[in-house]
Amino acid sequence: MSDGPKICGGCNQNIPSKWVTGLDKFWHHECFRCVSCNRVVSPTESFYDKDGKPDCFNCRGAPQVFTCGICNQTISGQRLIYLANTYHYGCKRCTKCQQSFSADQHDNIKILANGDFVHTNC
Ligand SMILES: [Zn+2]
Ligand SMILES: [Zn+2]
Ligand SMILES: [Zn+2]
Ligand SMILES: [Zn+2]
Repeated sequence: MSDGPKICGGCNQNIPSKWVTGLDKFWHHECFRCVSCNRVVSPTESFYDKDGKPDCFNCRGAPQVFTCGICNQTISGQRLIYLANTYHYGCKRCTKCQQSFSADQHDNIKILANGDFVHTNC
């Protein structure tokens, strides 16, 4: 580390004052964020190095597992998301035509205000 201008490892902007150091770089405190949850990480807490950015202990310690709200099986790969709920594409059905969704229909799925999923053209 040098005494020259301090360049933030997150946003690449100059840091006039109040930097933090972590992963051998300088950071604005608010730029030193977990790559997984976007939480500001204190350099004094435990974190992992993920491609030169912090990945916080919470995220690594407990990898997020998504469970389908319909079949209760773990979801690996693509999923439908509504607020805290996740579903397999094949499990969730359009409330209008009662057909299930597939991942390649992604751009043609609409979520209604009540949490129902429908095909945009239904
Ligand atoms: Zn920054
Ligand atoms: Zn995190
Ligand atoms: Zn399912
Ligand atoms: Zn439909």
